[in-house]
Order: sequence, then C-alpha cells, then structure tokens
Amino acid sequence: MCGIVGFAGVRQAAPILLEGLKRLEYRGYDSAGLAVQSDGKIVVSKARGRLSALCKLTHDGADIDGTVGIGHTRWATHGEPSYINSHPHMSHDGAVCVVHNGIIENYLALRAFLEAQGYEFVSDTDTEIISQLLAYCYEGDPVEAVKRARGYLEGSYALGILFRDRPEAIYAVSKDNPLIVGLGEGENYMASDVTAILKHTRRVFRLNEGEMAVITKDCVSVTDEYGMGVDKTVTEVTWDADAAEKGGYEHFMIKEILEQPEVIQKTANPRIVDGRIDMGLKRITREDLRGVDNICIVACGSAYHVGCVAKPILKRLCRLPVSVELASEFKYADPLVDARTLVIVISQSGETIDTYHALKEAAARGARIVSVVNVVGSTIAAASEDVIYTWAGPEIAVATTKAYSAQLIVLYMLAMYIGRIRETATREQERELIAELNALPAAVARALNDKEGVQYLASLYYSSKDVFFIGRNIDYALALEGSLKLKEISYIHSEAYAAGELKHGTISLVEQGTLVIALCTYAPLKDKLVSNIKEVKSRGANVIALANEGDEDIAQVADHVIYIPRWGQTTMPSLAIIPLQLFAYYVASLKGCDVDKPRNLAKSVTVE
Ligand code: GLU
Repeated sequence: MCGIVGFAGVRQAAPILLEGLKRLEYRGYDSAGLAVQSDGKIVVSKARGRLSALCKLTHDGADIDGTVGIGHTRWATHGEPSYINSHPHMSHDGAVCVVHNGIIENYLALRAFLEAQGYEFVSDTDTEIISQLLAYCYEGDPVEAVKRARGYLEGSYALGILFRDRPEAIYAVSKDNPLIVGLGEGENYMASDVTAILKHTRRVFRLNEGEMAVITKDCVSVTDEYGMGVDKTVTEVTWDADAAEKGGYEHFMIKEILEQPEVIQKTANPRIVDGRIDMGLKRITREDLRGVDNICIVACGSAYHVGCVAKPILKRLCRLPVSVELASEFKYADPLVDARTLVIVISQSGETIDTYHALKEAAARGARIVSVVNVVGSTIAAASEDVIYTWAGPEIAVATTKAYSAQLIVLYMLAMYIGRIRETATREQERELIAELNALPAAVARALNDKEGVQYLASLYYSSKDVFFIGRNIDYALALEGSLKLKEISYIHSEAYAAGELKHGTISLVEQGTLVIALCTYAPLKDKLVSNIKEVKSRGANVIALANEGDEDIAQVADHVIYIPRWGQTTMPSLAIIPLQLFAYYVASLKGCDVDKPRNLAKSVTVE
C-alpha cells in the first residue's frame, strides 16, 4: 500500500522526492524515508511517523545532496512502525538500497538462507530480505542481479532500487503492484501513483508484470523478464493536478463529499445516449449478456457495500440470481462461477490486491468480467474484459465518498442496461431511471445544503461510545456503509444491523443513551422500521432517523429526523448516503481525529 517515488535528473533530488511523497501519504503514513546517491555512497534519511517529521529532519530535503534518489512512505505489514523498520532498507555492505510496496511471502525462508551465508539483518521487515538478496546476487551487473533475485522472491512487490556502483540510475521492477514511469526533459521519474509526479510530467507509462526499467536522467530503458527490450507506449495524463489539492477546505473528505453532484453528472451523462443507457462495453456482447445465468459482484470495503446496494436492483431489473462476495474470501472459497457468470469487480483504485486476485480466479474459471474502476489503466482495469470507469477524479481522503457515489451510479445503469438487453426491464423503467439520473445532481446538492443540520446532530453525539445503524432492504445496505464511514474515521465503535435482526441478539447491547441511527427511506418497509425504532426507544436508545420528506410520523417516534428529498426507489441510496457521510465527517472533526488519514488505514490496499 505504501508510496514509492524515484527521481533521476540534475536538480537536487531530495526536495522533489519529499514533494512527491506528500502526494502519496494517503497510501501509508507509518514512517517515511529517502535514499540519495551522493559522492559515491547511498545516503539514507528516515523518520518514524508522518512525512512532516522527515521534512523537518532534512529541512525539506535541503540537507541532502545528490540528484538521483528514491523515497517511501510506509504502511507497515511486517514489523512495527519504527525507525529501524522504515524504508529504504540497505544491504549489510551498503551496496544496494531498496524501497518496497507489497509483501514477500517466503521472507522467513530467505532470511534463514541469507543468515546462513553470514548476512546480518537489523529490521523485522520482509523488505530487508530484498536488499540483502540483491547484494547476494550482485556480481557487477545490477540488471542481472535483479533478474536473479526475482527468481527467489515469492509474493507481491513494487521496488525502487539503488546500486552504489551505478550512481546515475534507479532500477524499478514490479509484480502484482503498480509502478509507473514518468518522462521529463533531462530528468525522469518513477512512482507508485501518478499523482506523485504530475507536477513535473504528464507523460507516463506503466510497468507490466515481469518488466524492469532502468531510469537515468537522459534515458529510460525497459526490458521484459527474458531481458528483451520493450517499446512502451507513453500516455498523456489528462487529470487536473488541482483536483488533488484541498482548494481551501479543511479536509479532502469534505471537499470530496461536496463534489458529489458534479461527479454523479460526469459518471452518468456520457452513458446516456439518445435517451438510452449505453455502458460502452466493448468485448462483452449483448449475446453474452443474454447467455448469462447469474451475476456475482466481488469487492472489498465500501465497494462491497456498493455491491450490497446493487444486488436487489440487479435482481429486480435482470431477474437473475445475484451474489455479493468479499474479494478477500472469494479466491479461497472454491467459488461457483463459470462461463455463464457475469462477474462485476468494483475497486476505486483498480489496485486492490484482494480484488485483483479474485478477478484472476474468476477469469480462470471462465467467468465474464467487467470491472468498475476509477483509475484509468490500473491493474484491475487492464486485467478485465471490459472496464467501466467512474469519473470521480482523484480521491485523496482515505475514507471514500465520491468514488462510492460514482460506483453506485455505474451499478444502477449497468443493471438497467443488462435488464434491457435481457428484456427483463421495460422501456418505461429505463425512462424513469434516466429522469432520476438527470435530476440527481441537483437533489444531492439539496441534501448537501442541509449540512449544518447534520453538523448540529454530530455536536450532540460525537462523544458516543457505541452506535448502531439499522435499516431494511436497501436501507440495510446503506447502513453498512454509514457505519463503516463513522467507525473508520472517528474510531467510535459502530455496527450495522438489518433492523429485524436486532431482537435476535444485538438489542441486548442497547441501553440508556445508546445512539441508534435508523434508516427509513425504503418506503415499502417504513412501518416495520417504525416498530423497530419503538423497540430500541423502549430500551433507552436515542434515535436519529433518516426519512423521506413528508413522512411526518417518524418524528413521533424518533428523537431527531433528517429528511431527505422524496425520490425514486432505484437511485434513492445516492441521496440517503449524503447525511451519513456528513455525520461521520463532522463527528470525526469534532473529536479532533485526523479525518483524511485515519490510523492504521491506507487508501490503496495493495497487500493481502
Ligand atoms: N512489507 C513492507 C513493510 O512492512 C511494505 C509494506 C507496504 O507495502 O506498505 O515494510
């Protein structure tokens, strides 16, 4: 998950590396470090904790001479977040230095092997294995050493490597983890994410599995796993660099919440063509969709919750069995997918390793695969038969908001598209959905206008110890996301329950003053929710209800009601999620939490 950046040029490397790492800190913030080629040796500087500590230590890089270097911001998997475990990791003889993203699965065996050869280790990381192994394999030719070392390594990795003997070059290599190379004028770059180098260049390419890049100021050469030269196609990044800036907001999260009307429009509009929904699938044909006999959604975290919202919609519009699977479980559960299964893979970053592995497993079993991804050209996008991009722009806050909303839009539209092709959804239903989608950005803007009301409720309850979110049907799927949002950024224990399940155990946890957030937007089951609210009220709970405008009776039973515009059943979740996102945000801010970078989390989850 961690961030990697590399620079080879004539300018001083350290300030450029630090600036790049600032853009990558969302990927991990346990520690940060730099290694720079300087006067015949590799100089390493690192600090535990936030990047700001390293900036302070090095006076924003000014203290470190040298024009070729690598940097890293860590999300610890092996070994506590400490100075000694921070990257870069040097080989015992100071000849090789490595930054690493991923996990080396056979590191214990390799460590034992190298220790038996007399190599001494100082850290608890799996990464130190790599620098030592490279030193072991090195006989004067770095490319050869990297090739040999790869033969030993099992697991996933993106690596930036310096060899003391080659002060002009960075060596970059990856397996199951993203690395991109950026081309400048008289300087070149590498990074785990394009945002790290956007300020300097927009001309980039991605390293494919098995490829190695040797990057110097004047030249980048790429070879494949057999050592043959590879001609890479350079792409121009069109992202607006400012989209990755806070633009005057206190946190990225609130900026991204407020961007949702625009994001919804950008995601929906291009797919409405002449009054019809067209998902632009290129490889999966209409015939293929008619031949499908079940749908399986695979995702993690909030993207999994999108799948939970989409499931009843897909069932209703496509009349097919739909399952939603956690990607981290899927691969190991002997999944029942085959050539008649349409697998929908959802991932914001397109790099989520669990989701990628699930995709590969499904593909190996012959399933048809369409992915819903935000980052163009990402690993998952490249490995799917068809990709539908969510045009949410860069999302920086670790807790997703706008990407979640964009994923919902894609799923509503995909459900309608498949339903239409299979003739299980009517023209009238399609017209209704298009009308809802066209009006949705304005309605979401209206829901966002009420943010002060939500902020007030947050001020009443931000010191809660436990919160329960309850709902039925789609409201339950939303409750899952509302609860995750709150707990991940505010550290308040919260759980989501299907409202009818409470009395099968959980209600014993409700006591005087427990906060229950009751979602009552799913009109067919509103009356059932009213009963569930009464049940928790009778046991002393304080209840905030989310209800449709006009449902005045909810105010009779709940302590507070947040009304949301009355809306069509299919796209209602896009409105109902807004107050839940705002509530989590305001609670976390009032508690003084680090909203954009919650503890122990990182944005792009590239380890299993
Ligand atoms: N496994 C390495 C470590 O713990 C890198 C982790 C990562 O990819 O964030 O240091």
